Amino acid sequence: MDGGNGDSGDGNNNNNNGSCRIALDVDGVLADVMQAWLRMTNPGRLGPLSKSDMTGWDFWSRYGVKKRDFYAQLDACWNEWNSLPPTEPDLARATEGLSRIGTVDIVTARSPATNRHVRMWLKLHNVSYQRYVQVAAGHMKADLDYDVFIDDSPINAEAFLRNGKRVILYTQPWNTTVADSPPRLVRVSNLGQAAEAAARMAPGSGCHGS
Ligand SMILES: [Mg+2]
Repeated sequence: MDGGNGDSGDGNNNNNNGSCRIALDVDGVLADVMQAWLRMTNPGRLGPLSKSDMTGWDFWSRYGVKKRDFYAQLDACWNEWNSLPPTEPDLARATEGLSRIGTVDIVTARSPATNRHVRMWLKLHNVSYQRYVQVAAGHMKADLDYDVFIDDSPINAEAFLRNGKRVILYTQPWNTTVADSPPRLVRVSNLGQAAEAAARMAPGSGCHGS
């Protein structure tokens, strides 16, 4: 499989021979990067923000944050990778469950400079995955050869659907306006639910044919 123009390599864990290919996002699905961003940027702000203020993918623009600065700040959050919080308490168990459903690759859009830290973070949290695939921009994920994408981006979700892929949307304040439309798009609030949704999409029940 092509890893886009980015970094690609083997992960550390389970080998599942099932034909359901699952692309698992990092920021906003495994890593609670926005929590780290709040911790980093709130001290310099008159009115501190919280996650509930993050309605919409471009929420930062309402608070006078420039796009370039926002993404640079997200990169900077990964410099402190060892204190960057997970979205859920037991990612090892949750991703092991996913790996029983299909072949799980980490598929992440980010600047290459952060790959090393992300990989160390995945290892720290014992995340189960096969390959690490990095692309330069979120929409590029939709061109990759996966059946199901687990992601939190409403923009990516649209691109996946356009390309005939299945989407498991991990609920975050910035994606609540996306309508749940099973079986092609299923909203979940944790990775346990994501595994259940992926199992329903698995070969024999739809994942294979998308
Ligand atoms: Mg994400």
